[in-house]
Amino acid sequence: MHKDLEKVVFTEEQIKKRVKELGEEITRDYDGKEIVAVGILKGAIVFFADLIREIKVPVKFDFMAASSYGSSTKTSGTVRILKDIDTDIENKHVIIIEDIIDSGLTLKYLKENFEHRKAASVKLCAMLNKPEGRRTDIKGDYVGFDVPDEFIVGYGLDYASVYRNIPYIGILKKEIYS
Ligand code: 5GP
Ligand code: MG
Ligand code: MG
Repeated sequence: MHKDLEKVVFTEEQIKKRVKELGEEITRDYDGKEIVAVGILKGAIVFFADLIREIKVPVKFDFMAASSYGSSTKTSGTVRILKDIDTDIENKHVIIIEDIIDSGLTLKYLKENFEHRKAASVKLCAMLNKPEGRRTDIKGDYVGFDVPDEFIVGYGLDYASVYRNIPYIGILKKEIYS
């Protein structure tokens, strides 16, 4: 285990198994359709790369960068689009792929934004879900695992841009950020 972690919550094996299940579920739900998968930079990248290879219907990719966090560990409540997609999503089936849903503010904003662009459908997929952090009515359509209200890193998730490349998911020691 990485020395800055308090605990590993999901191992590489557990993640791989769960991602495969999510891919199978999405494949069944989108049978006969094409998906536009929109990954939210940067945190969702690792999950995105693994998930799309478990989806067996045609998938186009695009990416968006949005931010509701600085380098602190609590959401600021405002969402900024730092980079937009360049795909025309009108009449397309969009799945937004996120690392974690906490307050839900980021995904609520992005979902409404994509609906305004007249997507045929917009669903939300997140590797992790923190139910205790929720401040909106947002629910993930495809969720890997629920996590406790702790600061999580690894498998794409960072603290101050570090730890994204840890291949498993863990809780960061409080002394690192307090
Ligand atoms: P929300 O808008 O749902 O509050 O926040 C979503 C974003 O906050 C995530 O995409 C992620 O970047 C960040 N975030 C929320 N909880 C955590 C966490 O436990 N660890 C890390 N590294 N980022 C988090
Ligand atoms: Mg994010
Ligand atoms: Mg972050």
